[in-house]
Amino acid sequence: MGSVNGLINAQGKQPLLSFGVISDVQYADIPDGRSFLGVPRYYRHSILVLQRAVKKWNCQKAKFVMNFGDIIDGFCPKDQSLDAVMKMVKEFDNFNGPVYHMIGNHCLYNLPREKLLPLLRIHSHDGHAYYDFSPIPEYRFVILDAYDISAIGWPKDHPKTMKALKFLSEKNPNSDKNSPDGLVDLDRRFLMFNGAVGKEQLEWLDHVLLEATRSNQKVVVCCHLPLDPGASSREALLWNYDEVMNVIHRSDCVKVCLAGHDHKGGHSVDAHGIHHRVFEAALECPPGTDAFGCIDVFDDRLLLSGSGRMKSTEMIFSR
Ligand SMILES: [Zn+2]
Repeated sequence: MGSVNGLINAQGKQPLLSFGVISDVQYADIPDGRSFLGVPRYYRHSILVLQRAVKKWNCQKAKFVMNFGDIIDGFCPKDQSLDAVMKMVKEFDNFNGPVYHMIGNHCLYNLPREKLLPLLRIHSHDGHAYYDFSPIPEYRFVILDAYDISAIGWPKDHPKTMKALKFLSEKNPNSDKNSPDGLVDLDRRFLMFNGAVGKEQLEWLDHVLLEATRSNQKVVVCCHLPLDPGASSREALLWNYDEVMNVIHRSDCVKVCLAGHDHKGGHSVDAHGIHHRVFEAALECPPGTDAFGCIDVFDDRLLLSGSGRMKSTEMIFSR
């Protein structure tokens, strides 16, 4: 979208920083296939999308890169999972700067948390994958762990697995817990391939946002699962997106929420003026096409310049 660059020029402002984004690469060394809904998936091509993204981010001198999860696909043969994740991390490491990873359901189909988190260099306590960082004094990035309460990724007898299975049995009557059959409207999110943010993580989020407010920082919240029904399919939402948004809406430091998982992508502005941008999947790019972006950060807006299928988006803060 030419207007994005035009707007930068018209404003005559330099961004405070720029960072690269990509989501749902879902690489696997297997033939092309289709999603459950019949959307084509290009498992081997997605690594080429990532390679082109890294090249462009390096040219654009992005300060860091964020991978929104699902680095490899659930169909990756399990004896190749470890090598496939390492191969993709190596591709990301061709970027000249830090790379911040998120975990997604497809990552967890392949490897348990204890193996996955060190590979993705997510350093946290007790196997959790939430963290935050502040690349410049004016901004803080908060990365949520969308599979904190989940039936995938934790050991089978782990209390969090039990809690998730009990929750699903109460919310979804289907024998296949990945089927939304019969579930109505927002209840269609109660599927096994989604998850929730647990109580401790919610308290941590509340604390981080309080600290950010005290420090006069603007916050960008990043999560594999979308947090707003306006930007996403019902079936892709975080189980307790409403609880997370209640915490976020208590302070006014959060300006933008970014997510992956819902491959078609989306954008909305919620009732509190927060932008929600869900990224188009790298996996669903036909050969030769791309889906990645570079986000310029200003004091009053984020400007996403998308490549290929990733739509450019201007996110002006309303508060
Ligand atoms: Zn996902």
